[in-house]
Amino acid sequence: MNLLPLAPNGTTPVRALTIAGTDSGGGAGIQADSRTMALCGVHACVAVAAVTVQNSVGVSGFHEIPPSIVADQVRVVVSDIGIGAAKTGMLASTAIIEAVADVCAEVGIGRNGSVPLVVDPVAASMHGDPLLHESALDAVRNTLIPLATVVTPNLDEVRLITGIEVVDDATARQAAQALHKLGAQWAIVKGGHLRSSDRSVDLLFDGDTFTEFDAPRIATGNDHGGGDTLAAAIVCALANGYTVPDAVAFAKEWTYRCLAASYDLGAGHGPVSPLWRLES
Ligand code: PLP
Repeated sequence: MNLLPLAPNGTTPVRALTIAGTDSGGGAGIQADSRTMALCGVHACVAVAAVTVQNSVGVSGFHEIPPSIVADQVRVVVSDIGIGAAKTGMLASTAIIEAVADVCAEVGIGRNGSVPLVVDPVAASMHGDPLLHESALDAVRNTLIPLATVVTPNLDEVRLITGIEVVDDATARQAAQALHKLGAQWAIVKGGHLRSSDRSVDLLFDGDTFTEFDAPRIATGNDHGGGDTLAAAIVCALANGYTVPDAVAFAKEWTYRCLAASYDLGAGHGPVSPLWRLES
């Protein structure tokens, strides 16, 4: 695949920011974002929104960072280090979503600013453990998604946000239209969890054109952090100046390679891994 360029040693690489939750098991969240960003040659800045207590078996709890501290992390990074693109992951609560939306508008992150924003509307872990208070779904719909250059829900998140149960191509298109109507500039409906096909097809919609991105399905239970990895790879490509469709094409292939390189960890679901990049 065409990899993103690496800055020569000792020179400043492209920077990106993830605003998300940590994963003590090191597979998803900020840890997955940082690994993909580093291995795409991008310096990862982080604004921690929540600390999760989790391993490969599940999430047993989380602690929310005060909203003003989340916003301050964003503010100081943007004003000093400068970033080419940003993403949100686990934001946990309405108060954090509102603080993040306010600071993004203030510093020019989001579809109306100069820094593109990928919104991964994280709601629950693959084990079904909640990562977002149910009461925050309205804020996801009305405050967060309207800021998105790209929104990247999985099928469970699509159902929670739009009420649409995606079972086939027609319902995937309906869902993409609903997400676009909520205010995202581009919407991706990830078909990776539609188990009926031997291909994993993601649908991208900009209000006008539907574009499909597909890769062979990899049958593995070790897919923890797959959604974060896709969104982080989109961010890396956008920070390198890619268009959204080109960024999604890059991220789809990146994630496929990371799924192929996933490994067992603990007794539950192992992580997707970008470490294959060290071999090329
Ligand atoms: N933990 C954190 C902090 C996350 O951000 C995410 C997903 O974005 C998860 C867990 C869940 O990852 P998965 O659905 O791959 O288990």
